[in-house]
Amino acid sequence: MQIISELFRFLIDTHCHFDDASFDADRAQAYARARAQQVDWQIIPAIHAENWQAVKKLCQTYTGLFPAYGLHPMYLAAHRPEHLIQLEQWLTTEKTIAVGECGLDFYVAELAMDAQYYYFKTQLSIAKTAQLPIIIHARRSVDAVIQCVRQVKNPRGGVVHSFAGSLQQAQQLIDLGYYLSFGGPITYPRANKLRNLIKILPLTALLLETDAPDQPLSTHRGQRNEPAFLIEIAQTVAELREQNVDEIITATTANAIHLFDLTHF
Ligand SMILES: [Zn+2]
Repeated sequence: MQIISELFRFLIDTHCHFDDASFDADRAQAYARARAQQVDWQIIPAIHAENWQAVKKLCQTYTGLFPAYGLHPMYLAAHRPEHLIQLEQWLTTEKTIAVGECGLDFYVAELAMDAQYYYFKTQLSIAKTAQLPIIIHARRSVDAVIQCVRQVKNPRGGVVHSFAGSLQQAQQLIDLGYYLSFGGPITYPRANKLRNLIKILPLTALLLETDAPDQPLSTHRGQRNEPAFLIEIAQTVAELREQNVDEIITATTANAIHLFDLTHF
């Protein structure tokens, strides 16, 4: 136990769009700030086919950044069926820790549901074939996501990032081998439902994320989010669960390493 906690005394931002243009002016400084807060590793999920190369290059440039490749539902207009074939091929040649970001977004009305299902389900199958876990975006769509992952049983499982569902939905996902990731929204005192979940969910199912540059914390409201702030999310989880922050860091980092098999990358 002692050895494990020594090994994992750092944080992993399991969902950070560090390739986003909002970091172009100060990416090196933002990276240094993250490292100074023990956020040593980051997982960078791509969002559309044109973005894969940039994510790859970024992860080659900075130590501790790990790429995932996928087609995000909010960028539906940019996706073409051939991108799914390209994704399959890309995964055979490029080092990858997961498929994603993909999923279903029923909040944005303009995003055609049938097309969303087509891209999401195909990516679930691609991940299964490639023996990779999956990073899922589920906005107002958790039940639909549960149905899909139940249909395409992937032994590697995955994560529903920025989880905002119910306890029952969380339990169903955990039973299916999925992790739940939490970030900035839990720092808002009025987010009672979310904060109650944090108190009662098993620590073995939790991951931490910033989703930077989006979803700023309550202490940085209206500002660009960045990976350095992950430490505050860990502290919030520790306060809510009445546990030591080191315990939270050790456990969630071990969870991320296990899910994404990061020690073998
Ligand atoms: Zn994202």
